[in-house]
Amino acid sequence: MKVGLIGLPQVGKRTLYTILTGQIFDEEAFSGKEEIKFGLAHIRDSRFDKLVEMYQPRKKVPALLDIVLLPKFDKDTISSGECLKAVEKCDALCHIVRGFEDAAVFHVEGSVDPLRDIENVFMELILSDLILIEKRLERMEKEMKGKPDPMKSKENQLLNDMKKVLDENVPLSKFEMSPDDQKLMSTYQFLTRRPLIVVLNVADDKLNDEICKKAVEKKYKKFGVEVIQISAKIESELSQLDPGEREAFLEDLNIKESALNLLSQLCYDVLGLLSFFTVGPDEVRQWTTKKNFTAPEAAGTIHSDLQRGFIRAEIFKCRDLFEAGSEQKLKEAGKHYLKGKDYIIEDGDIMNVRFNV
Ligand code: GDP
Repeated sequence: MKVGLIGLPQVGKRTLYTILTGQIFDEEAFSGKEEIKFGLAHIRDSRFDKLVEMYQPRKKVPALLDIVLLPKFDKDTISSGECLKAVEKCDALCHIVRGFEDAAVFHVEGSVDPLRDIENVFMELILSDLILIEKRLERMEKEMKGKPDPMKSKENQLLNDMKKVLDENVPLSKFEMSPDDQKLMSTYQFLTRRPLIVVLNVADDKLNDEICKKAVEKKYKKFGVEVIQISAKIESELSQLDPGEREAFLEDLNIKESALNLLSQLCYDVLGLLSFFTVGPDEVRQWTTKKNFTAPEAAGTIHSDLQRGFIRAEIFKCRDLFEAGSEQKLKEAGKHYLKGKDYIIEDGDIMNVRFNV
């Protein structure tokens, strides 16, 4: 699963990309060039950190998420084939929006106005899908002349219905399709069918001020857009600290949880994913699997043998473990469960699979 970072220039995309992936930019090599960068981000999850602290394992393996940094996203570049191709590869989009004032950092529009920038990019995405549909409809008209084809007619009908939705400035994620129609349209790479997360990059002293965030939510929640507020500056400082020091730093700033943890969680949510863990003195590991997967299906993400030979799963919950303080106390409290093949895995489950192949 890939998450694409999009946005206007100078909004904090590269800063965020560096914090997420650890990849530093070689300014000399990068300057002036608009290129696509692919990186892997460690999923940030305080539960994983707590499990590592508890088990002190020899190896710790966080989950990974593919991050794609896209070239600047505006009227000129959006229609360039390269940019669109890269966006098509992304399963979800994060639109980074500038909310911080800084006279030393220029703004392409001349002023800081998050709502204006969000609307502009939102409309560019809608426009891009409209252009795609209009071009296809034009070609179809020629192809269909005098040659009746029920599949093509159906496709034509769907494209026209989609166009109506887009004409109302509504993203295609709100366009409902039956599984058959989805199959028929699966080759189309519509940008507005992808989940969209708006990441408001605000000044470090404005992190707890949610006026702008609320205004964005009011306007875009109905389209399924998620909104999160971060300070790339704080996250950048945070990423340089040891996990032990981070909590005190956050407490000092009166912040409950690092925004990157929340962003990781949000990406998982919109992509229909969840995390489960395996623990022990050898290894603490975070795994990614799909929501509504059964225990054997989730076990299959670890190894296909575990799915094939699945007998039962020992399951306990992170929150119960943290509350109890140890596995022993958790067992005494009766919160250690044996689950069968029908068990649906939940976010935050700790699983040990009993299997036989
Ligand atoms: P991009 O063009 O969207 O990739 O933006 P960059 O990540 O390169 O950031 C542009 C400039 O803004 C850089 O000089 C950053 O140091 C600065 N910047 C990024 N985030 C923040 C922030 O939260 N606060 C402040 N004051 N500056 C930031």
